[in-house]
Amino acid sequence: MGGPRRGILPPSLLESPRWSDPMVAAAMPVADVPFVTVGGGIGSFATVDRLRVHGVPAERIRVITDLDHPAQTYERLTRWSQLPPTARIGTGSRGRPDAPWCFPSYALEEAWRERSPRPLPGALLRRPWSPRAATVLAGLEREAARIGYADMTVKGSVHVVRRREDGGYFTVLTGPDGAPRAYRSRYVHLAVGRPGLRLLPDLQRYRSEYGDRVRVVSAYEPHEHVYAALRDKAGTVMVRGGGGLAARVLRRLIEDREAHGLQTRVVQAFRTVLARPSGPERRAWQARLRDGAAHGWYHCVRGVVDLVEPGPGGRVVAHLRREGGRHQFLSDFIIDCAALPADIAEHQVLADLLARGGARRGPLDRLEVARSFEVTGAASGDGALYASGPAALGVGVPADTFRGLQRAAREITADLTRRGFCPPLGPVAATGQWLRWARGVPVR
Ligand SMILES: Cc1cc2nc3c(=O)[nH]c(=O)nc-3n(C[C@H](O)[C@H](O)[C@H](O)COP(=O)(O)OP(=O)(O)OC[C@H]3O[C@@H](n4cnc5c(N)ncnc54)[C@H](O)[C@@H]3O)c2cc1C
Repeated sequence: MGGPRRGILPPSLLESPRWSDPMVAAAMPVADVPFVTVGGGIGSFATVDRLRVHGVPAERIRVITDLDHPAQTYERLTRWSQLPPTARIGTGSRGRPDAPWCFPSYALEEAWRERSPRPLPGALLRRPWSPRAATVLAGLEREAARIGYADMTVKGSVHVVRRREDGGYFTVLTGPDGAPRAYRSRYVHLAVGRPGLRLLPDLQRYRSEYGDRVRVVSAYEPHEHVYAALRDKAGTVMVRGGGGLAARVLRRLIEDREAHGLQTRVVQAFRTVLARPSGPERRAWQARLRDGAAHGWYHCVRGVVDLVEPGPGGRVVAHLRREGGRHQFLSDFIIDCAALPADIAEHQVLADLLARGGARRGPLDRLEVARSFEVTGAASGDGALYASGPAALGVGVPADTFRGLQRAAREITADLTRRGFCPPLGPVAATGQWLRWARGVPVR
């Protein structure tokens, strides 16, 4: 379990669950701002965007992040997991993080921009629509400029959020100079994304034992070297998993095979039945897989891999158990496409909140949050701590989606309005703000 690194905080602060102003001032510089959001990705962005649209001035908000722009992690993960900007994002999207009104939907905007009726039925029936990744990124960039996001951003890594004796919180970060400093605020919002990368247990064991990050990779980390090596020399890849992520990796392997005339062999190993193909595009590459099976370069196997170890010639051997016995597969690379969620305690800030901040685990072992996305048990005087995104489950909508993040932003803003931090937004003001948004005019 994580927590703040030793050396960042003096022992007096490390051990104490509530901090007084003099204790912190003796250890590091302290600045005041009423609202701090930690993470700076899409979850922070959606929340800050809504606060700004409600009329909260930029000086009252700070975004602490290691990112250069809010979509950076999303962009990286989509790129590494084989979703180019021109591709449509996989899961479909009803929310849009760059527009608190969710209007026009991505579908309606695309129909208008491309003068195409194709997205209209989905838009009118409010069905999820898969926009292009590039559309999502461009919208976020435009809205970030409009709300002055860069001016609210503080570059740094947060180590701990602790309750303040007189209410509110201290958020300790280190910036590029490595020196700790703190923000004292009444409200803190955590949107720290996925708490970490978790490999399948046998692959995690292999990595810990042999320290090999070249032959065994996750599809959610940089692994371009695998495709480059296969272009240089024919090889075998084992793809682990049967969902959409595995489908994208298989597709890349097949497209490289066709484009460069490669002799790549692919073994796909999964535990449960593959997702059924849907849509003409998906059916087309499924046909290519059938062709691969017929010609012997694609092999699909259902079973449980319980051991991976080094094999002859610097390769890796996977031992697979299935009905009818055990089998060994020798490959040059293994790509983990299972995308297992990491435990929230892998994240140092969340681990500390569980240990000393009053937070507790809720359903699916995520942080327990109320309907307002306030972290249960972590209140501090008249201050409140909120969490959204993969670390918190939320109510009704999947938390780790644009729509879930937007729902959280709406609930948090409503709670901050009740608490008097945020001005209410009536229908006339909301319409005025929407018109400004539609014309790209900065928020006031
Ligand atoms: C490949 C892929 C495709 C997706 N497609 C869709 C889709 O089609 N539709 C949809 O609705 N959703 C989709 N999602 C989900 C969506 O991207 C996520 O819901 C969203 O990005 C999560 O936002 P977040 O702010 O919680 O996390 P992120 O965007 O990951 O941002 C969190 C940031 O916090 C930073 N951070 C963490 N700890 C600290 C710290 N201690 N100090 C400072 N900074 C810190 C991290 O570096 C990270 O950059 C997709 C996700 C992926 C990976």
